[in-house]
Amino acid sequence: MSYVGPDFDPPQPRRSHLRRPLTVAVAAVAVGAVAGWGVWQAVGDSGGGDGGSDSAAVPQTRSATTPPATGEPTASGDADNGDDGDGGDGDGDGDGDDGKKASPSGSSSAPAATGPLKGKVVVIDPGHNPGNFQHTTEINRRVNIGTNAKECDTTGTTTNDGYPEAEFTLDVSRRLRTLLEQKGATVKFTQDDDRDWGPCIDERARIGNEANADAVVSIHADGSGVGNRGFHVILPGSVNEGAADTRPIVTPSRDLGERIAGHFVRATGSAPSNYVGDGTGIVTRTDLGGLNLSTVPKVFIECGNMRDTKDAAQLTSGTWRQKAAQGISDGITSFLKN
Ligand code: ZN
Repeated sequence: MSYVGPDFDPPQPRRSHLRRPLTVAVAAVAVGAVAGWGVWQAVGDSGGGDGGSDSAAVPQTRSATTPPATGEPTASGDADNGDDGDGGDGDGDGDGDDGKKASPSGSSSAPAATGPLKGKVVVIDPGHNPGNFQHTTEINRRVNIGTNAKECDTTGTTTNDGYPEAEFTLDVSRRLRTLLEQKGATVKFTQDDDRDWGPCIDERARIGNEANADAVVSIHADGSGVGNRGFHVILPGSVNEGAADTRPIVTPSRDLGERIAGHFVRATGSAPSNYVGDGTGIVTRTDLGGLNLSTVPKVFIECGNMRDTKDAAQLTSGTWRQKAAQGISDGITSFLKN
């Protein structure tokens, strides 16, 4: 459900360097909240077309846009961001392996025999792990993410009623896998609740790298304050330090993230975050190990704020989660077909 009202107050222009991401997500707001889904279907590619149309549609709607003003876009207005974002990870060895249960982290894939995504490899990274709560010592170990050291992994947040983010991320990821496999993609998971904890964020990145993935998406939900609502997609900023060199993936990751944001709006009706990203639904960060260590196009998506009761009502709904998976799938498909 898109929400109107306070979130769509007059704009407060800010930070000019964010103009580019603004164009896409702001347009997404306008289209999703003002113009309605029909417009998206007219200008977007319906998940089947090529992604190019997404971007092309953006400027056209921009003049009619009224970016949401609310929220103080502090770099990390959400308490859970750091955690969500996951800690860094750096040395990848060993860390993640310790937490394995019987099966390897890569989950099985049964892609359709044919389809628009045949031959494409998508790695889905369900944030956190339900078992992390019982393995705090292991997940608190610090790993190197190139720029610095961060915790191997975090527990993730929960709704006020106790629905864990780690369950949410797995559910959306599994729905997403089904949708992508139906289009012929080969899908791998970084974890499928098939290990006791983790993996560490460096291993999460490595799984995507070693799969030579065409796209990687890390699924999360935020743990911010009440009243903070909406989704945001996190893009890798340019980092070239230690084991991290994101320079080759910055541009394709932005393309991937912008397409996911646009399609997420259309599929869910949710508005971009009102507390980070200046209303664009797009945030760029250089402190997340899962992004810093990636050598393939990768983004995170925070699907909503679990600590806000209105967002939580959506996040705990299977119907809504299916829409979320559909939006992400459409965005990935758009990117891969472009
Ligand atoms: Zn998270």
